[in-house]
Amino acid sequence: MSRTGLLVVAAAAVIAATPLHAENVLLKKWTGPYGGVPPFDKVKVSDFKPGLEAAMAENLKEIDAIAKNPATPDFDNTIAALERAGKPFERVSTIYGVFRNTMSSDDFQKVETEMAPKLAAFNDRIVQNKALFERIAAVYDAREASGLTPEQKRLVWLDYTTFVRAGARLEGAARQRVAEINQRLASLFTKFSQNLLADEKDYVLYLEKEADLAGLPGGVREGAAQAAEARGHKGQWAILNTRSSMEPFLTYSDRRDLREKVWRTYYSRCNNGDAKDNNATISEILKLRAERANLLGYPTHAHWRLEDSMAKTPERAMELMEAVWKPAVARVREEVADMQAVADTEAAGGGAKVTIEPWDYRYYAEKVRKARYDLDQNIVTPYLQLDKMREAIFWNAGQLFGLQFKPATGVPVVHLDVRVWEVTDAAGKHVGLWYFDPYARPGKQSGAWMNAYRSQSKFDGVVTTIVSNNANFVKGKPGEPVLISWDDALTMFHEFGHALHGLSSSVNYPSLSGTKVARDYVEFPSQLLEHWVSVPEVLNRFALHYQTGKPIPKELVEKIDRASKFNQGFITVEYLAGALVDMKLHLAATADTTIDPQAFERETLAALGMPKEIVMRHRTTQFSHIFSSDSYSAGYYSYLWSDTLSADAWEAFVEAGGPYDKAVAKRLLDNVFSTGNTIDPAEDYRNFRGRDPGIAALMRKRGFQTAEPQTGGKTSAR
Ligand SMILES: [Zn+2]
Repeated sequence: MSRTGLLVVAAAAVIAATPLHAENVLLKKWTGPYGGVPPFDKVKVSDFKPGLEAAMAENLKEIDAIAKNPATPDFDNTIAALERAGKPFERVSTIYGVFRNTMSSDDFQKVETEMAPKLAAFNDRIVQNKALFERIAAVYDAREASGLTPEQKRLVWLDYTTFVRAGARLEGAARQRVAEINQRLASLFTKFSQNLLADEKDYVLYLEKEADLAGLPGGVREGAAQAAEARGHKGQWAILNTRSSMEPFLTYSDRRDLREKVWRTYYSRCNNGDAKDNNATISEILKLRAERANLLGYPTHAHWRLEDSMAKTPERAMELMEAVWKPAVARVREEVADMQAVADTEAAGGGAKVTIEPWDYRYYAEKVRKARYDLDQNIVTPYLQLDKMREAIFWNAGQLFGLQFKPATGVPVVHLDVRVWEVTDAAGKHVGLWYFDPYARPGKQSGAWMNAYRSQSKFDGVVTTIVSNNANFVKGKPGEPVLISWDDALTMFHEFGHALHGLSSSVNYPSLSGTKVARDYVEFPSQLLEHWVSVPEVLNRFALHYQTGKPIPKELVEKIDRASKFNQGFITVEYLAGALVDMKLHLAATADTTIDPQAFERETLAALGMPKEIVMRHRTTQFSHIFSSDSYSAGYYSYLWSDTLSADAWEAFVEAGGPYDKAVAKRLLDNVFSTGNTIDPAEDYRNFRGRDPGIAALMRKRGFQTAEPQTGGKTSAR
């Protein structure tokens, strides 16, 4: 999630001056209710290329006019003018992004392959516009003496820093080379993503016999039957090569041979030595990123990326990761011992002898969960209906921030599964729209995410926001409720936390609004929201059994609570291994050495003492966070950084006496959710909490031993 439009995408080739096509729906102002809505129903894939080209040309003209303005540079004629510019481009690229993430057909992928380097070149033409940069620099130099508000000063700083960091000060060959690198990277990112999408789509395990389903609960079987039917294999069961298909299979299947098969297929994505293998692409990406960082004056890509984060340096991010790594690995040893004991008992009872392997972890963890906490996920799931959990996130937002939700009518959607709600404040005033695209489908990227279709602002008249949440739930039979797992419910609250961050935004300038904050701060609001899934106020109202309508029993909730620290070794290590490899890759890469991603992954994990029973949550060839764009590169640590904040922030509610304490909720809204990027995140947090965050709350949340006693001032994550 970076700043959209203007300053983010970049590049240099000459773009043909395509005339504005009055016919192209992508270029038109959004019309209809709520200040206009995206015309998803009228978009054709063939509109994208001419639409993007015309919008880029138009935007460059606007930029040129700002750069050539004869008046002395000031905030309004330069910085605010940039905020006003590029609206058609933002509209086109928003819809283009929605197609890329959720409707990626073969036709669309052809357009994407062609447009990615052109979009990169376009962005570079803006950031390398000398006259424009000189004006921004002039406003920046005069910022303290020009009577600007703190928010305006922050925006000036952001524009200036963004331009400098993108190479605005470079000259001649270096300048040209950065633009070339950006275009080449854009193509490589596209290739990486398309390969991954293809490997997820092309490998499907069809199960033909009832015996192959041993251990799978009803919901998982039905989902697999639907998936098979949708692929022309009626009467069989399809296990897709996606996380939402793989995880339940590995958790429940009694068939160790099939678990191993599913595991190997999933964790080999784009590492099969075929046309979709991503290894060479990764090597080239790493090399180019290192070269670009050097040209921009940084020792490594990691140093460049971290500079404008809350952590500021790779060293500080590493310090936090290393503090958590050892206790997490120690917990894994305990978890494996517990699982091995279950396996040994089974073997003694006549079962096969099993030494825990990676494809056994989720399966035996589930058995330990049942034995130790008497908690069976299959007993929890019937209480978690997708629709009810959606009502729960609405209700929770009402309790915390006074927001209200009602279905919006007459709003076009990109697919019939998508539904839209209008969001109002306590007084009934319109706040924004929330789109929800819940189900998996071919051409939709896996996982869950939030997206902003329009940013909130008020400097130039009130513009309300449009946000969306996207997930990959397996659609059930028509008319039957979709039951989700506890983890899925957490994910829903998480993604809705991002949406709420967008919806609560109350800033003047669009570039500072909502979730456009530092990468290692953006997951803080979303991870904080996860805490409300398990509060009794939510569960008693919304965790209702799909058949009896009865709320989830108190004893079951207590079991869930007791089990909340369960498996944290696995969860933390599979994540942290990825975060460490990401950072180490980007610290190690240089412009003139070729890194072999497989060897690097293997050697780095061995040096860290990675438990052999676990693999990285996203192995290198599948690590979209860091190789499908720059956004989370050298930044996967952000989730841990943000969780340090969220654990600490949640304790503010606990200390105040409850999850709906009015004073804490108001402080949270005023200092975190509504402020966007108008304030430095460390200061934002201090205003909310009254102090800097510490690591102790995180360790308590995950049930880890802290290496050293925590004192008030000691903190690894300011
Ligand atoms: Zn998130």
